Amino acid sequence: MKKLKVGILGATGAVGQKFVEILDAHPWFEIAVLAASERSAGKTYEDAANWIGSKPMPQAVAGMKVVEAVPGFECDVVFSGLDAAVAGGLEADFARAGYPVISNARNFRMQDDVPLLIPEVNPDHTALIERQDWQSAGYVVTNPNCSTVGLACTLRPLVDAFEVELVQVVTMQALSGAGYPGVASLDALANVVPYIGGEEEKMAAEPRKLLGRLVDGRVEDASFRVSAQCNRVPVLDGHMECISIKFGRDVSAADVRAAFLEFRSPIADYKLPSSPEKLFQVFDDPRFPQPRRHAEHGNGMMVSVGRIRPCEVLDVKLVALVHNTVRGAAGGAVLNAELLIEQGYLKHRNLSAAAVA
Ligand code: NAP
Repeated sequence: MKKLKVGILGATGAVGQKFVEILDAHPWFEIAVLAASERSAGKTYEDAANWIGSKPMPQAVAGMKVVEAVPGFECDVVFSGLDAAVAGGLEADFARAGYPVISNARNFRMQDDVPLLIPEVNPDHTALIERQDWQSAGYVVTNPNCSTVGLACTLRPLVDAFEVELVQVVTMQALSGAGYPGVASLDALANVVPYIGGEEEKMAAEPRKLLGRLVDGRVEDASFRVSAQCNRVPVLDGHMECISIKFGRDVSAADVRAAFLEFRSPIADYKLPSSPEKLFQVFDDPRFPQPRRHAEHGNGMMVSVGRIRPCEVLDVKLVALVHNTVRGAAGGAVLNAELLIEQGYLKHRNLSAAAVA
């Protein structure tokens, strides 16, 4: 397949840099445009981006000129790692101008006609694209908040096998989730900050849309309720979540463990390049999962679960771990785009015509 040309909006930021890292050697995509604010436009990428990755900046992008994130450049799809303060207006501009927009920002996640997508959780929700003006213009597809990704993946097999009624979750979220420079060092070092603005509300609402059913082209939200408490902890990458669940019928810890082991991803047959071999890594060793040891497993695309045990208040409790900037952001968005190709929603555009539009 001839590679699709990709534009990265917010390419200089923490998520934008992860996009660059993941797309650098991708078999289906090639980076054609790096876009950011007018502060960065005109500079080379190596001058504009304060590279925070642990691997070196890919040579292929270092000398590329950053452009301003406004429609007009040639590419088949844009990935957005834009700051939420500007993402709403700019992503809408790109969609109106004909670009498929695969976004990480929160702005459109809960809009009725926009898929909030995790391919292993709700691949059928991409049908919402058809409620956007996608044949004549572009469209927006979003991925969830990074902590929501871990929770929604964890709940998928349990919602399928049992009736989930209540979910309580306490998070320990990595510093990289706050972007760069992120949390001030005097707050972050040897400390815990028990507040992440807007995070608890997103964790209460987004899983209900993700695990909702598509009926007559609309999503009917799942009926379970979520209570979330979110904390920032001095970990580099990987959000941990302590989750307790109440079911509508008798469910044991062994039943929950079996549900994870037996889970078959609905996209398994597609063999998408970013899809991990298995979504879940299930630990029986009570010391695991741990962010430093396990966040990178499956190229950061697996969800690790462990400490599955009876809960004294609800029914079953467990610990889940998700890599926040990979599965929870750029890697999840790239997997979304791969699914859209497989489903026929994402194709080569008539680029010279698009650039004129
Ligand atoms: P960040 O490091 O602050 O990067 C923000 C990016 O937006 C930069 O490239 C910046 O370009 C660009 N930008 C800012 N104002 C702009 C403007 N007026 N016009 C065009 N571009 C502009 O933020 P981040 O952590 O990467 O997060 C990006 C988005 O992803 C946010 O919406 C965030 O909520 C979401 N997200 C983040 C994570 C995570 O783990 N970090 C996870 C999931 C979702 P300049 O460099 O030119 O200023």
